[in-house]
Amino acid sequence: MAETELPVVGFHPYLWGDPAQHSGLPPAIHAALSGLGVTAPARPAVPPDAVRLPPVTLSEAARAALTAVVGAEHVDSGHDARLGHTRGRSTPDLLRLRAGDAADAPDAVVFPGSHDEVVAVLRACAEHRVAVVPYSGGTSVVGGLAPARAGFAGVVTLDLRRLDALVEVDSVSRTAVLQAGLRGPRAERLLREQGFTLGHFPQSYEGASIGGYAAARSAGQSSAGYGRFDEMVVGLVLATPRGTVELGTAPKSAAGPDLRQLVLGSEGVLGVITSVRVRVRPAPGERIFEGWRFPSFEAGAAALRRLAQAGTPPPTVLRLSDELETAVNLADPAAALDGGPGGCLAITGYEGDPAEVAARRAAATDVLLAAGGAPLGPGPGESWREGRFRAPYLRDPILAAGGLVETLETAAFWSGLHRLRAAVTEALTAELTGQGTPPVVLCHISHVYETGASLYFTVVCAQAADPLTQWAAAKTAANRAIRSCGAAITHHHGVGTDHRAAYAEEIGPLAVEALHAVKRVLDPTGILNPGVLLPPAGG
Ligand SMILES: Cc1cc2nc3c(=O)[nH]c(=O)nc-3n(C[C@H](O)[C@H](O)[C@H](O)COP(=O)(O)OP(=O)(O)OC[C@H]3O[C@@H](n4cnc5c(N)ncnc54)[C@H](O)[C@@H]3O)c2cc1C
Repeated sequence: MAETELPVVGFHPYLWGDPAQHSGLPPAIHAALSGLGVTAPARPAVPPDAVRLPPVTLSEAARAALTAVVGAEHVDSGHDARLGHTRGRSTPDLLRLRAGDAADAPDAVVFPGSHDEVVAVLRACAEHRVAVVPYSGGTSVVGGLAPARAGFAGVVTLDLRRLDALVEVDSVSRTAVLQAGLRGPRAERLLREQGFTLGHFPQSYEGASIGGYAAARSAGQSSAGYGRFDEMVVGLVLATPRGTVELGTAPKSAAGPDLRQLVLGSEGVLGVITSVRVRVRPAPGERIFEGWRFPSFEAGAAALRRLAQAGTPPPTVLRLSDELETAVNLADPAAALDGGPGGCLAITGYEGDPAEVAARRAAATDVLLAAGGAPLGPGPGESWREGRFRAPYLRDPILAAGGLVETLETAAFWSGLHRLRAAVTEALTAELTGQGTPPVVLCHISHVYETGASLYFTVVCAQAADPLTQWAAAKTAANRAIRSCGAAITHHHGVGTDHRAAYAEEIGPLAVEALHAVKRVLDPTGILNPGVLLPPAGG
């Protein structure tokens, strides 16, 4: 389905996306799960209306202050609003909700209608010592929406969905100002009406929003051609409890450190991004997606590296699945259990005007052929494009069937990439096998740079009696492996609470202290996402 045709729908508390797209598990995946030892009884979820929520602790005075800013109709402490804003969309988040655990539910959800209202809400929360969770699309998979509560009189979620305008398009400079609560499909539709595209298509596109893309430094599937989201942002507006910070008045500047980069990736702990000015590109007139086969992952990775380093404009989409993931991509998940059919599938995609597509494609084809790739034509490319937002719909039925499925990602320089892949795969396999639930670990290169690439892992196994503890141990093992290879603890999912300790290790204690110092200036009472990204003050 084309990106602009995806509907903007209200999400269920734990089911992904558009309810009309949920159709259960394909038989091949059922068979693959049986091979992994997933057997009845299945794990049905507690229905949303039967989930018990913790009592609301927000004082009447705090509620009155919030209501005075946004109006009573925009402060919601009802069951559905609180449950629907409980944590994010990682597998542990979903497992907890499915088991009826909503202990992290906010006391209220506040829906501001303007930047000034956001500033005023933050001031009111600072005055009443209420913690604030900035919330754009709610698709965080790293615990970014479950802050620490200790020491606060309550927690409110600041849902930015009313800030959903395309404010301005500068077609001469090719920039657009987008508000933070704009969801991916709506942002893209509004831009297409003006003849432009953002070119940002993460797999969470149906749910994630502009503010979250910026706050968590998202990378979309077309990053080879359009860049990561942080590369697209040329300016932004940040609301803090102390007022407004506006950054980015020109395409480039030598005036001191680039403070936009301090805000991008700050995951709501320094302020609330209410709008961004982004670079946009002309809507593509032509698109071609193709498949390539390589004899091995190593051969495919070498080809992608040659392409990234060739100095010619890269494809818009460039990715490579390992042998097992290739088996799954080719609609034969059962073959993954037998080691796959051999060979690895790469996808190349080209977008732009016909001349640009032809030039990019010709340049890439030369490099890939010289690197030993076998062209498979448009079939596999088009089928990848058609199905690229489908995988999240499989997670709910897999969890319900008693399977465990989760993803994680990292990045490294080319010279360390294969060691990293082996270390993470071994760590996950050893940990889960030791627990009696041997997994299948799939891997692909998801984003490619001149100097390195990101690796994206999908892990599937049977749920143990306590799947939360089971996955926590596996994730710890994977994090340790990533750290031991000197790789990035995250390439695009962000830090949240899940990667906080590893992030602190990655940047070192002095850098952590510097970030705390910035937070103390912008958020002196520490109400913004306490415990996300950085340890809670004094913690
Ligand atoms: C199925 C699935 C697939 C995914 N695929 C991808 C992918 O392909 N690429 C990718 O990069 N990520 C992916 N993700 C992760 C996630 O979608 C991204 O991190 C995305 O950028 C989050 O956007 P959001 O609007 O949902 O942010 P949220 O979940 O609402 O917020 C993310 C973090 O930023 C903070 N925050 C939110 N809005 C603001 C704001 N306006 N100002 C300041 N702080 C804010 C939140 O408090 C939270 O800590 C995926 C997630 C899921 C569930």
